[in-house]
Amino acid sequence: MKSGRIAVLAHITNHMPTSELQALDAAHHLHPFTNGNELKNTGVRVITRADGVMLTDSDGNTYLDAMAGLWCVNLGYGRSELADAAARQMRELPYSNTFFQTSHVPAISLANRLAELAPHDLNNVFYAGSGSEANDTNIRLVRTYWAEAGKPEKKIIISRHNAYHGSAMGSGSLGGMSYMHAQGGLPIDNIHHIDQPYWYGEGGDVGPDEFGLERARQLERKILEFGQDRVAAFIAEPIQGAGGVIIPPKTYWPEIQRICNQYNVLLIADEVITGFGRTGRWFGSETLDIKPDVMTIAKGLTSGYAPLGASLVNDRIAEVLNGCEFAHGYTYCGHPVCCAVALENLRILDEEKIIERAGRIMAPYLKEKWESLAEHPLVGEATIIGHMGSIALSPDKQNRARFANDEEAGTICRRKCYENGLIMRPVHGRMVISPPLIITEDEIDQLAERAWKALDQTRSQILDEGLMKSVH
Ligand SMILES: *Cc1c(COP(=O)(O)O)cnc(C)c1O
Repeated sequence: MKSGRIAVLAHITNHMPTSELQALDAAHHLHPFTNGNELKNTGVRVITRADGVMLTDSDGNTYLDAMAGLWCVNLGYGRSELADAAARQMRELPYSNTFFQTSHVPAISLANRLAELAPHDLNNVFYAGSGSEANDTNIRLVRTYWAEAGKPEKKIIISRHNAYHGSAMGSGSLGGMSYMHAQGGLPIDNIHHIDQPYWYGEGGDVGPDEFGLERARQLERKILEFGQDRVAAFIAEPIQGAGGVIIPPKTYWPEIQRICNQYNVLLIADEVITGFGRTGRWFGSETLDIKPDVMTIAKGLTSGYAPLGASLVNDRIAEVLNGCEFAHGYTYCGHPVCCAVALENLRILDEEKIIERAGRIMAPYLKEKWESLAEHPLVGEATIIGHMGSIALSPDKQNRARFANDEEAGTICRRKCYENGLIMRPVHGRMVISPPLIITEDEIDQLAERAWKALDQTRSQILDEGLMKSVH
């Protein structure tokens, strides 16, 4: 029985009927961030192939993937150079480790390339398999740094509510998603959260600039509450991604930077989404003029073609860490195949000037089209920076009101998007996009048209079902 089923699975192609794939998926596959029983009722959507910005499912439907997968396929789908790089590396050296005084060419080359690309003196690379792992590394890394520097009491890490830093015990604790903390005993000790700089949702009657300063100064108050001798680091996404693409007021980051400098608190910029062109420059820290001590990268590093993450660390931290044995590492730190894929991805991004073109030429076009969605009766605001944007769904846009049931409104909108051949993702009453950087003008037009149509249909359904109730 068992072996028969495995034989079937080994031959799964897009020729197998969708209903069979759905039944097999429901039988044995536990999905992340998914209610399994609900999924069994609706049937999973099976994606079978992709090219450029378009996905195809097992029924032959196509979708414009305005999310670039999970914010990661910066280069777009279907670049065979990356497949070739992986195959070449697998033949030459499929695996080798970086523990115990050994290394290999892809890990060496990529570390040097990243040191060239990264801003300031983020010249040192500690590899991980993902963003979650890299942020778990960061927790131990900054605490070890302070201990080695003679300040073992500096252990507390301050983060923000509604931040996303990954899903492991440490990175999930750094994150500020309360529904995640509710499961499995998070957060771990010595991690604390301040409020997010979300002016549209939480600013009330205060202007954005003043609000940005207020929210930044929560960090100062937290540091003073614990004492600067106990605070190791502050971690934040330059622009929150999974929290709803929340672009902070322009006063926010300069004040955060001042506070970190003044109180000798390390600044960790989680650039897992904002890295590799997402905001129009190579790194969000450049776009927003931030000077982090540690930077988390993953996702766009390989454009999602292989799993890889890393912590980039400045020279001062590296010098101290190199003075001890940092008893930390993963079997797949600097995996050769993933590093080879990353190198090829970075080569193409650079040589084809994809980030430059996306930032200088396509981003203004995308911004114009995206911001025109703010004219839709269901949209409270439309904001975007580079190739990452969001709209707020609102039943009463004059008052920046939220839907009483904003999860439901978002879910309806996501479904309407799919029905119109568009993938957008709902987050707490916002719809977010993060398209591949190679998206063309025509495809941007399609994105905006499909989004508008989906919004119309969402509004009709919300009116039909009497879901217009708002909260302020
Ligand atoms: C996705 C994400 C992570 C986690 O990365 P994984 O590769 O999913 O573990 C961490 N930080 C941010 C900002 C992310 O968006």
